[in-house]
Amino acid sequence: MNYPWEANIRKVEPYTPGEQPTDPSIIKLNTNENPYGPSEDIKKAMKDLSTDLFKKYPDAKATELVNELADYHKVGRDQVFVGVGSDDVLGMCFMTFFNSEKPILFPDITYSFYPVWAELLNIPFKTLALDDSFEICVEDYLQENGGVVIPNPNAPTSILFGKDKIEKILEANKSNIIIIDEAYIDFAEEGSSVINLIDKYDNLVVVRTFSKSRSLAGLRVGYAVSNPVLIKYLNDVKYSYNSYTMNYPSIKLGSAVIKDEEYFRTTIKKIVDTRSWFTDELRKLGFSLPDSSTNFVFPEHKSVPAKEIFEAAKKNKIYFRYFNLPRIDNRLRITIGTDEEMKTVVEFLQDYLKNK
Ligand SMILES: *Cc1c(COP(=O)(O)O)cnc(C)c1O
Repeated sequence: MNYPWEANIRKVEPYTPGEQPTDPSIIKLNTNENPYGPSEDIKKAMKDLSTDLFKKYPDAKATELVNELADYHKVGRDQVFVGVGSDDVLGMCFMTFFNSEKPILFPDITYSFYPVWAELLNIPFKTLALDDSFEICVEDYLQENGGVVIPNPNAPTSILFGKDKIEKILEANKSNIIIIDEAYIDFAEEGSSVINLIDKYDNLVVVRTFSKSRSLAGLRVGYAVSNPVLIKYLNDVKYSYNSYTMNYPSIKLGSAVIKDEEYFRTTIKKIVDTRSWFTDELRKLGFSLPDSSTNFVFPEHKSVPAKEIFEAAKKNKIYFRYFNLPRIDNRLRITIGTDEEMKTVVEFLQDYLKNK
């Protein structure tokens, strides 16, 4: 580190995504992807894409996709902002909405990208400890702040935060923007989303993604729903940075996905059913875990360290996620795969734990 230009370089500690192995025989339960993949309708839409259109710039406003999303959520077409996965949308939200000298607030155990954006954009932040059962303490979010970001359900805890509690935070923070990251909300009980509160609270921004419940992590589509004023501010920042974030296939296929309601509901139900079965099996095996409202679970074994289980599973071509972080370093985050995959996982765990 002794280049003469070193002092002028922006240095950041980047976010570390889960491993993406290429061996197809690996049971990959480490990045919360949805195992069912796109429907036949999407495969057809993909075949019907006109490659002739690739020579042109895409529609910078992604009008078709924005309109489909607005109609789906029954909001105005000026109330939706789309981006390259919700990571792009969240990054834009941080850039647009968090410009106070006061710190933004988020939980100590949460999506590990939040502190990375805050550092990158020089946004002061303060993390607030979850309680001993990994629940968010509402009172902590009533202090002075420069904005709030909370995933609901939270990751990696898998726990859903009550709508009434979110309303309390919205009420107490009228002069700050509150971002609710609903990456996993489709796996939670019906009626848990706060999208229907955007007319009631002008400081609320809700962020969603196609990566988890819609089984399209590779397409990179995410969006925000809010009031027209905040959506305009987001677009102003986006057009000041990169106008053409949404490529033509993402706009086309993303629009088709919204019409795929039946397939969407079917695959969600499959995952929720598998989650319920798998949770029971884990408890029988001596794990404790919160009831999950997501497509993953967050177990801890009563006697065997998580890191050992993580490593043994990996040797057996089963990938879990392990975070070597305070308070959660004895837990595994396990994505819910297909029934067949989860049966293999249970058999592996039975076998492995028997000899412990
Ligand atoms: C996966 C995830 C995201 C980002 O997903 P994208 O693939 O970028 O849409 C955002 N927030 C949370 C909490 C997530 O788990």
